[in-house]
Amino acid sequence: MKIQDKKSVVVALLLCFITVVTVVFCYTYFQTISSHVYKDSSQHLIELYSQVTRNFTIFMEKDMESLNDYTVYWDGIDDEESFVKYINEQRKQKGFSKFYFLSRDGRGITSDGTAEQFSHREYEASLFEQQKSVVCNDTLSDNQTVALFAMPVETGSYMGFVYDAVAISYTNADIISALNMDNFSGRSVCLVVQTDGDVILSTHSDGAVFKNYLSYLSVGSDIGEEDLKQMSEDWENGISGILRCHIGQEDYYISYNPVPNADFVLLGIVPDAVVSAGMSQVQSITIDMLVKIFILIGSIVIILLIYTFSKKAKKNTMELYYREFIFDAVSQNVDDIFLMVDGKTRKVDYISPNIERLLGISKDDAKENFNNLIKECSVGEDYFVDDDTLNSIPINDKHMFDRELKHKKTNEVHWFHETVYHENIHGEKKFIVVMSDRTDDRKNKQTLEEALVLAKNANEAKSNFLSNMSHDIRTPMNAIVGYATLLEKDTGNAEKVHEYTRKILASGHHMISLINDVLDMSKIESGKTSLNIDMFSLPQFLEELYSVMMPQAKAKQQSFEFHTQGNLTEMLDGDKLRLNQILMNLLSNAIKYTQVGGTIDLTVRELPKTTPQYIGIQFIVTDNGIGISEEFIDKIFDTFTREENSTTSGIQGTGLGMAITKNLVDLMGGTIHVSSCQGKGSTFTVNLTFAVPSQKDPKELRTNFGISKILVADDELDICKNIHSVMSEVDIDVTYVTDGQAAVDAVVQAQENGDGFQVILLDWKMPEKDGVETARLIREKIHQDVPILILTSYDWSDIENKARAAGIDGFMTKPFFVSSFQHTLERMRADKEQGDTSAAADTGKNELENMMFLVAEDNGLNAEILSELLSLENASCEIAVNGQEALEMFVGSEPDKYDMILMDVQMPIMDGYEATRQIRACEHPRAKSIPIVAMTANAFAEDKQNAIDAGMNGHLSKPIDMGKTKEMIRLLKSNGEEAL
Ligand code: ADP
Repeated sequence: MKIQDKKSVVVALLLCFITVVTVVFCYTYFQTISSHVYKDSSQHLIELYSQVTRNFTIFMEKDMESLNDYTVYWDGIDDEESFVKYINEQRKQKGFSKFYFLSRDGRGITSDGTAEQFSHREYEASLFEQQKSVVCNDTLSDNQTVALFAMPVETGSYMGFVYDAVAISYTNADIISALNMDNFSGRSVCLVVQTDGDVILSTHSDGAVFKNYLSYLSVGSDIGEEDLKQMSEDWENGISGILRCHIGQEDYYISYNPVPNADFVLLGIVPDAVVSAGMSQVQSITIDMLVKIFILIGSIVIILLIYTFSKKAKKNTMELYYREFIFDAVSQNVDDIFLMVDGKTRKVDYISPNIERLLGISKDDAKENFNNLIKECSVGEDYFVDDDTLNSIPINDKHMFDRELKHKKTNEVHWFHETVYHENIHGEKKFIVVMSDRTDDRKNKQTLEEALVLAKNANEAKSNFLSNMSHDIRTPMNAIVGYATLLEKDTGNAEKVHEYTRKILASGHHMISLINDVLDMSKIESGKTSLNIDMFSLPQFLEELYSVMMPQAKAKQQSFEFHTQGNLTEMLDGDKLRLNQILMNLLSNAIKYTQVGGTIDLTVRELPKTTPQYIGIQFIVTDNGIGISEEFIDKIFDTFTREENSTTSGIQGTGLGMAITKNLVDLMGGTIHVSSCQGKGSTFTVNLTFAVPSQKDPKELRTNFGISKILVADDELDICKNIHSVMSEVDIDVTYVTDGQAAVDAVVQAQENGDGFQVILLDWKMPEKDGVETARLIREKIHQDVPILILTSYDWSDIENKARAAGIDGFMTKPFFVSSFQHTLERMRADKEQGDTSAAADTGKNELENMMFLVAEDNGLNAEILSELLSLENASCEIAVNGQEALEMFVGSEPDKYDMILMDVQMPIMDGYEATRQIRACEHPRAKSIPIVAMTANAFAEDKQNAIDAGMNGHLSKPIDMGKTKEMIRLLKSNGEEAL
C-alpha cells in the first residue's frame, strides 16, 4: 500500500473515532440531562400542584365562608333589592358569576330572581341528604359548564322561591384564573376528583369528558393495574404523588395532591412534551452548541488536514514539477526520447519534449496521437510495435528493436534503437519506452567502415600498383639493360647501334613519364598543388598543344584534329600549365588507346555565358579506340587503376593519368565526364571556367598589316563561315570558296578588278586541287607578292618543303583564330625583316651549332653527359658546380662569351633560383637578356612557375632531351624570352 493511502486510512479512522466519541458523549449527556430534567420536572410539578391545591382549599373555604355570610345577610334584611345590590358588589369583589338559591327539586334561582335548571345536579345527594357543602361541576340551561360551590342552609324563601341550599357559580375560566390553575398555557388540565375518581371540577373545556378519572385512566392510559391501584390508595390515604403515563397519543405527567379537610384530590395533568419543553430546549441548545462545536472542530480539523494535505500535495506537485522540469531539461540535451504508456488504455502518460527536436513532433501532439504520428514517420514498411508484441513482454522484462524514422519537418531519416520496458508501478502496468537516436553513431560507424574499405581498397590499389609498377618499371629497365648489352656487342654495326640506342632512349623516356606521374600524383594527394592564374591566349595554347601531341598521333597514323564551335573568347585568365596537363593526359590516352589509323578529335566550344567576367569552356576529346567497359568507367579516376585489357594488351601506363586529370579538374573547379562504348571509342568532356581578362585594345589588323580583304578556300563550308564571322568583327572582308579552282578564279578575278586580296588562306586537304596545288596555280596566274597561308589540322612538316617551293609563305593550325592569324603574320614579317624565313629554320640547320653554354650542375655524371651531348651538337660548355660558381663565372665573363645558361635548380651553396635572381640583378651587360633555362628533375608545374618567377626563360626536365633542348632554343630565338 502507498504511504499516501495509509495516511488517508488513519485520517478516516480518526474522524470515525471522533464521531463515535461525540455521539456517545452526547447520548450520555442527554441521558443524564433527561433524568435530571425528569426529576426536576416531577418536583416542579408536585410543588406547582401542591400550591394549586393549597389555593383551591383556601378558595373553597373562603367561598363556603362567603356563602354563609350571604345567607346570614339575607336572613337579616329580607329585602330582595338590597340583597341583589349586595350580591352584585360581592360578585365584583370575589369574582364569582352568580349566586343561587337551590331547592330540593333541582331548581334554582339567581339573586335577581332568574330561574335556572341544572342538568346534572350531582351535588343533590351530598348537599341535601348528607347536609354537606359541595363543590362540583354542572351544566346550565344555556349549556355553559360552571363550577358550583354549594352549601346547605335552613329552608327559606327568596322572591317566593323556597330554598334549602345556596350556591355560587364560577365559569371554568374564572375559576382557573382565580385558582391560577392555568399552568403551561392551557396545555395542562387540572381536575378535582373525589377519592373514588369521580370528577368534581375540571379545567378541561368539556368538563363532562371525565366522569370518573380512575376509570378513564384504566381504559385510556398505559398505567398498569398495580400503579392505578397504588394511586387510588394514595388518594384514599391523602398521599400526594406523581406518575408518568401514555394517554392516547401522548405521554403525560399526572400529579395528585389530596385537598386537606375534604375528600378531594387535585390532579395536574401535563403533557410530557410541555414538561420536557425546557428539556428539549436545553437539548436543542446543547445539540446546537455541540453541532457548532463539532462543526468548528471538524472545520478546523478539515482545514488543518486540507492545509497539511495541500501543503504536502503542493510540495509533492512542486517536487514532481521540478523533477519533470529537470528531466525535460536533461532530455533536451540527449538524443533519447522517453515515454511512458499506460498498460490498459495505451495512453501516453509522459513524453520527453526532445521529440520535437528529434522527430519534429510537438510534445502535446505526441501525447494525444503518438501511434499515428510515429506511423507517419516510419520509413516504408518499417517495424511497428503492435499490441500483441507489447502484451507478450513479461513484467520487469524488456523488448528491443531498431528502426528508421523520418523527421516530420526536415524529412531527414534518423536511425533509432528502441527499448520497451514492461513495469508494474504500484499495481498499474506501464510501458516505458526509450527511443535512442543513434544516427550519429551509425554514421560514424558507417564512415569508419567506409574508411576501412577505402583503406583496404587503397592498400589493395597500392599493392596492385606496385605489381603494375614492377611490371611497368621492369619492362623499360629490361629493355634498357637488354639493348645496352646488345649495344656493347654490336658496337661495330652502326645501324644496330642506332636502333638499340633509339630503343634505350624510348624506354628511358617512358620511365621518366612514369616517375613524373607518380611524383605528380603524390604531390596532388598531399594537397601541395596550387594554381597559377595568368592571362593566356587560347588559340596559341591550342596551337602549342596541337604541335606537341600531333607527332604521337602521326606515329600511329591517326587522324588528329582540333575543332572549334562558335566564336571563342581568345584571351583567358587561367592556369595554362594545368590545362595543358589535363588535355595532354586525355589526348595521349586517346592516342594510346586507339588503334593505328584511328581518329582523335578535340572540340572546343564556349558554354553559354552566365556572368560577363567568367566564361565556361568545354573541351571534348573523342576517339574511336578500344573504349572502356561499363564497370571500369566508375573506377577510371581512381589512383593506380588500369583496365584489365590495357594491362594485358601491353600498352604502357601507370593508372595515374586519369586520377591526376580528375584532381586537376577539381582543383580548377571544373567537371569531367566520360562516356564510352567498348570497341567503339570514348569521349571525355571537360568543363572549365576561366576569368575573362579586361579587354585590351584589339590590334588593328588593318592598320598594322594594311589588310582589308582576304580569300579563304576550304571544302568545309562551316569553317569558311566561321572565319568570315570572326574576321568581320575586326573589319576584314572575307571572300570564301570551297575548292581550289574556285580560289584560283577568285584571285584572278580580283586582280583583274584591281582589287586583289591581301592574304590568301588555303585549306591543305581539299578534293581535286589541294592547298599546295592551288597555291602553285595562283602563283602562276598572278605575280603579286600576296602571302599565301595553308590552314590545316594536320602535321605539315612532311610537306613543308614542297609547299614552300609551291609558293606557300606560312602555315596555320586549325581552328582559325584572329590572334593566331595575326601571330602568323607577325612572325612572317619578323622573318622577312631578318632575311631569315622560318623555312630556313627547318632546313636542317642545327640550332645548337657553335653555341657556348654556361652549365650549372653539381652532379659530375650529369655534367659530363650534358657536356658530351652538347659537343655532339657542335656546341660547347663550361661547368659550374653550384649556383655561386655559376654567378661568379657569368659576372666575370666577356659580354658575348655565353649564349645561354643551363641552370640546375637543386645545388649546394646556392641553388639555381637564387643564382638566376643574382645574375639578373648583377651589373653584367647581358644580365637581363641572357637566356637562362632551368634543368631540373622536378617536373611539376609549380617548378616551371618558380623558374619563371626567379627570372628564367625556360624549363627542361632531366634527363636532358636534346630534341627538346633544340626546340626550346628555337623558340627562345624566335620569341625572345617567352619560351615557357
Ligand atoms: P594509364 O597510364 O594506364 O593510361 P590513366 O589513368 O591515364 O592510366 O588511365 C587509366 C585507364 O583508363 C587506362 O589504363 C585505360 O584502361 C583507361 N583509359 C583511359 N583513357 C582511355 C581511352 N581514351 N580509351 C580507352 N581506355 C582509356
